[in-house]
Amino acid sequence: FGALLEQDPEIAGLLVSELDRQRSGLQLIASENQTSPAVLAALGSTLSNKYAEGYPHARYYGGCAEVDKVEDLAIARAKALFGAEHANVQPHSGASANLAVYGAFAAPGDTVLAMSLDHGGHLTHGFKVSFSGKWFNAVHYGVSQETEDIDYDQVEKLAKEHRPKIILAGGSAIPRLIDFERFRAIADEVGAIFWVDAAHFIGLVAGKVIPSPVPHADVVSFTTHKVLRGPRGGAIVCKEEHAKKIDRAVFPMMQGGPLMHGVAGKAVNFAECATPAYQAYAQGVLDNARVLADTLGELGIRPITGGTDTHLSLHDLRGVGVTGVDAEARCDAAGIVLNKNAIPFDPEKPNVASGIRVGSPSVTTQGMGTEEMRTVAQLIHRAVTEGDADPEHAVTREVRGQVTELLTSFPAYPEPAAR
Ligand code: PLP
Repeated sequence: FGALLEQDPEIAGLLVSELDRQRSGLQLIASENQTSPAVLAALGSTLSNKYAEGYPHARYYGGCAEVDKVEDLAIARAKALFGAEHANVQPHSGASANLAVYGAFAAPGDTVLAMSLDHGGHLTHGFKVSFSGKWFNAVHYGVSQETEDIDYDQVEKLAKEHRPKIILAGGSAIPRLIDFERFRAIADEVGAIFWVDAAHFIGLVAGKVIPSPVPHADVVSFTTHKVLRGPRGGAIVCKEEHAKKIDRAVFPMMQGGPLMHGVAGKAVNFAECATPAYQAYAQGVLDNARVLADTLGELGIRPITGGTDTHLSLHDLRGVGVTGVDAEARCDAAGIVLNKNAIPFDPEKPNVASGIRVGSPSVTTQGMGTEEMRTVAQLIHRAVTEGDADPEHAVTREVRGQVTELLTSFPAYPEPAAR
């Protein structure tokens, strides 16, 4: 950091400001986390200099002996962590991993059955502005109005009607466990590839606190930076029978040289995830999410589906008469970082939204437990119902003070103890 500070104080200053921002607020964005200093060291390494198109021991560049060892380790660790037959650790991001899965199993114009974005899916699951919606015939299932959980009968009906090439499960705002067996049975019935986009919950699978999609799915794509707590990036695990297709789809179909510093960061992270400490963390993420969701519910901010089995919950703000966009702004002013989110069957436009999404990965990394989650829920409730988007508003200032006090006991990236 000293070199950066000397050469480019402007950028160095912004890095410090961002660290301050991460330290000074309650980070409740469900897709974010705080990766370890060891992963950050791998990301900031000279591996960034190396071109390594291809795969270990079959590269298109010389000088790959060391990065081959790094990628071999990342692959072996991913396979062991997830009990997978094959792993590809090169996708630059979750969207790149998904692009490769489409490339492996579908041709433009083919039909894909996936969860709709407004019920909790992801842009890359066939949304019309994404490549996935432009290039493929996306058919969408959603949640049932009654349970607010995935409508499996609808999945089956649409699968039989449209006979998709791929059936995709997973999304960005699904608080409940997914019934992988049911999806597998539906995919088998219509001869479809069963793909799980586990970006959000793969960290809970790694920590062995929720069931794994790996034994059931043909292919599982994921990001490495959410609950998993690794570097920003993507990865894919699959059955051996699909290994060649997946590898060719990642490179050379969709990507060029892998980001070897990122691959090193993934290797470090996979090793971290295989430890009892990470498993305890994953359990903490679950416990905290549940208490946060339940307490918000008791305060009148209803959790969609009535609660959560994962790291996130989605809340309906209509009971307190505030929109998602206003709640996000009021929380932001009070030092609470979360996002507005459409809820299923939302009467508001997506940029207004009737809901918020909250997640426990970051605050759990900071060491908070269920007792703190009750406090956090109360702070959110107060900021949303009595606060304002103006940081100088009296209640907002008061809540921000309480946030600061809480964070003093649970700092993000604590300074090493003075020697
Ligand atoms: N898939 C799901 C389910 C996601 O939630 C996300 C990101 O939030 C992605 C894919 C895309 O990941 P990335 O932002 O790394 O491209």
